[in-house]
Amino acid sequence: MNSIGLDQVLAWIREIAARVEDQRGYLTELDSAIGDADHGANMNRGFKAAMERLEATPPDDMASALRTVAMALIGKTGGASGPLYGTFFLEMGKAIGDADTIDAARFAAALRAGIDGVKARGKAELEDKTMIDALEPAFSALEEAIASGQELSAALAEAEVAAREGMEATIPLVARKGRASYLGERSAGHQDPGATSSHLILAAAAEVFGK
Ligand code: ADP
Ligand code: MG
Repeated sequence: MNSIGLDQVLAWIREIAARVEDQRGYLTELDSAIGDADHGANMNRGFKAAMERLEATPPDDMASALRTVAMALIGKTGGASGPLYGTFFLEMGKAIGDADTIDAARFAAALRAGIDGVKARGKAELEDKTMIDALEPAFSALEEAIASGQELSAALAEAEVAAREGMEATIPLVARKGRASYLGERSAGHQDPGATSSHLILAAAAEVFGK
């Protein structure tokens, strides 16, 4: 696939919702080590609401689909992750605007806008042990692969690997943002739940857009 349209975006959201439902126990287990044991439940509630709203009111274009997801996440997910992922999808939608289809470069630009939104809202930087640790390396890998002329599917496969490495690299880090930061040094030795859900979001993109 070399361009992305509404059907692919809807398939992406559906894939995320299915993976979140499947992995909610794992996400919550990670959050029980360094947070308040609700990340899986939060994400599942948010994406279930997103799917319900998309089915109740089918969107006309990618931007409105992403906006619907954003509003469901902001309204229903709760925790720190709800507003942050809400901002992520809202800013992605804004960057896509009224385009009917987008190419790999435009998808990367939308991802950049989504990540910048998360950073503006949450003020986290690389190595603060947050979702940024998976998202930022994924973007860099995507951008580099596209610049070297790779197709969207190959570029997204690299982005997924970079997100996984970024997620795993959160294990030794001491959290500097969010609830886990209250633990100080004791947050080291555990994988960040939000970096794990961000990897899931990229893995779903690689699966759906990479076909
Ligand atoms: P809460 O911490 O409020 O219970 P969740 O458990 O749903 O919310 O989400 C926790 C995740 O949110 C963390 O693992 C981390 O990745 C992410 N997070 C928390 N604060 C920030 C922040 N300021 N910027 C980016 N991500 C953050
Ligand atoms: Mg939590």
